[in-house]
Amino acid sequence: MSNTSAYPHLLAPLDLGFTTLANRTLMGSMHTGLEEEKNGFDKLAAFYEARAKGGVGLIVTGGISPNMRGRLAPFGCELSKPWHVNKHKKITAAVHKYDTKICVQLLHAGRYAYHPFSVSASKVKSAINPFTPAEMSVRQIKGTIKDFASSTRLAQKAGYDGVEIMGSEGYLINQFACTRVNKRTDEWGGSIENRMRLAVETIKAVRERVGEKFIIIFRLSMLDLVEGGNTWEEVVTMAKAVEAAGATIINTGIGWHEARVPTIATSVPRAAFTWITERMKKEVSIPLVTTNRINTPEVAEDVLANGHADMVSMARPFLADADFVNKSAANKSNAINTCIGCNQACLDHVFKQQRASCLVNPVACYETELTFEKTPTKKNIAVIGAGPAGLAFSVYASQRGHKVTMFDRADEIGGQFNFAKQVPGKEEFYETLRYFNEQIKLNDISLQLSQEVSADDLIKSGFDEVVLATGIVPRQLDIKGIEHPKVKSYLNVLRDKQPVGQKVAIVGAGGIGFDVACFLAEDESLSTDLEAWMKNWGVDKDYNEPGALITNPDFHKTEREIYLLQRKTTKVGAGLGKTTGWIHRATLQKNGVNMIPGVTYKEVNDTGLVIDIDGKEKTLEVDNVIICAGQQSERSLHQTLVDANVSVHLIGGANVAAELDAKRAIRQAAELAATI
Ligand code: FAD
Ligand code: NAP
Ligand code: SF4
Repeated sequence: MSNTSAYPHLLAPLDLGFTTLANRTLMGSMHTGLEEEKNGFDKLAAFYEARAKGGVGLIVTGGISPNMRGRLAPFGCELSKPWHVNKHKKITAAVHKYDTKICVQLLHAGRYAYHPFSVSASKVKSAINPFTPAEMSVRQIKGTIKDFASSTRLAQKAGYDGVEIMGSEGYLINQFACTRVNKRTDEWGGSIENRMRLAVETIKAVRERVGEKFIIIFRLSMLDLVEGGNTWEEVVTMAKAVEAAGATIINTGIGWHEARVPTIATSVPRAAFTWITERMKKEVSIPLVTTNRINTPEVAEDVLANGHADMVSMARPFLADADFVNKSAANKSNAINTCIGCNQACLDHVFKQQRASCLVNPVACYETELTFEKTPTKKNIAVIGAGPAGLAFSVYASQRGHKVTMFDRADEIGGQFNFAKQVPGKEEFYETLRYFNEQIKLNDISLQLSQEVSADDLIKSGFDEVVLATGIVPRQLDIKGIEHPKVKSYLNVLRDKQPVGQKVAIVGAGGIGFDVACFLAEDESLSTDLEAWMKNWGVDKDYNEPGALITNPDFHKTEREIYLLQRKTTKVGAGLGKTTGWIHRATLQKNGVNMIPGVTYKEVNDTGLVIDIDGKEKTLEVDNVIICAGQQSERSLHQTLVDANVSVHLIGGANVAAELDAKRAIRQAAELAATI
């Protein structure tokens, strides 16, 4: 039974006339990679069913193409033939066991299609795709409109409650709508009336094919955030035409994929773009959905209570926690596993053609494979280390019925997350720690903080199993002068808050080197001050320019002189996340950080850091040298325990330090907990 008083606006039903949505939550479209896997639709059905059971009002599936040319990738999913219907019925039947509606998203990729058969309004290649699209003939355009309509009819047969027509993020319909790609001189190009014709005719054709009692969501690009994007007046003209053509709901689209403005990464302030939906509310009368970086029920409630929209779309938050809505309704928002906006297991996977999941919830998209059955044999388990690996293991193992005691030498849980959360733009890491603190209470885990555990203690205590989640120690370097007082480790900076001078060299340009550079360079207020953040990324909230971009933005630049160094000769930051690395690089570039590859470290002395680049010696005159040169496993307890025949397991950094991240630490912990 839902408690609508907890979040009255979020949990209020939405009457669409011919059908009613249980609440104001829309699970936004996410491609998971299961769409193309063998037997993937059985797993997809379980994935969506879990979210429906968790109380989502309306689900929109990952994008599916209405025809061959519109596929995102050569073997991308298509809904265009009668024999495609049956597998979709698995999804709709699973979702309709609950009071949840589901729409399939129809997405024609246009020039974003990653294959040689891509088409678009004009023959204009995107900088983020190697394939140049062919210009569509009028016959092809009309054929595509028919394909959208046929696909929708198939969706109806498959039991979907509606479709979402993808008109934003720089896909085909958006390409037609903007002069950035649309250079046509026929009735499909030129004026906004011509450029939006594809959107309008598609909606009309779809409506005609499926009748009045079928949800049509149109995802409208309200902010293109690219040069050659639409003006606000053009966006409004299009919204009104979309409404008149028969759409039931308009969903907000923010930014083309090729835009150089971050739109969903963790450093984007929460609910950063709802103001644009609010502005549109004055122009149309059908329900509007707002979106981007809304990740807690409190934020969602505020957005709705302030009248910014009629519904809130959250995509990744439902990967992170399938029960988001039910927990909100039960007033247990502290128990929600919050999406931290890292993209590491979701978008980064999808862009590498891997199955999506979630860093904080490794069960996402593995609902039928990673399960936690009640144990027939309750064990007494010691977990050493309350970092992400130890925490995740303890929660899952105790949920299975084991008795878990978790030790950490620190006086708080979280391990390295306590250093990560200090970095501007990584404040969401606090939420993961809040979640785990709550789970420790809910699952009756015995937590022993400020306890340095020795192998002898463990041997004497007689635990059935010992799990070493002791993490890592920073790598020590063998450079002449490394003991000079100006040398610091990243822990001295992020944990001990030791003062750092105005001129700094950072040794090592991995994730932590970038984070330390950002910590030293970036203006902290940018993650909380929305106006300042918008200006810093060149977004024109007044919408005076097409695409809402400021022509000559005035970026924040640090007063520090910072050098970020690596030995490799590849581009600095090349190993960062697929969808977020460019943001980290751009942040440092804007701050004037010098990123230098191909460095050999010679010596630290009173003047600074002596390096060698291309055989030329150079001294960087710096006040501090900060070492961020990777890490080594901390497993000093392991061998003694093995020798004493204790049943011992290594997880997270204690297991393998190379290329360690929290995604791997948490998944490995969950997999051990499922089987121990
Ligand atoms: P740890 O987090 O290192 O935890 C180990 C714990 O064991 C510690 O709390 C320690 O006190 C305790 N311990 C060790 N020995 C003992 C003992 N004998 N007795 C008691 N307690 C003991 N990863 C990402 O995926 N994404 C990011 O964006 C990201 N950003 C980061 C930013 C920074 C600045 C840093 C430092 C790390 C970042 N990481 C990030 C890495 C991530 O935090 C680690 O991969 C993760 O914390 C590893 O988890 P773990 O549980 O294996 O080890
Ligand atoms: P890392 O990513 O492995 O980077 C280590 C850096 O140190 C590299 O730049 C490496 O470059 C350099 N290095 C390695 N050995 C060295 C040596 N002997 N002397 C000098 N330089 C050396 O490790 P990290 O930065 O410590 O990060 C640890 C983990 O945390 C990473 O695996 C990462 O996934 C995770 N993390 C992720 C994020 C994120 O945003 N996703 C952020 C922070 C951390 P060269 O060898 O070229 O010099
Ligand atoms: Fe959110 Fe990161 Fe999980 Fe993606 S992987 S859903 S961004 S927490």
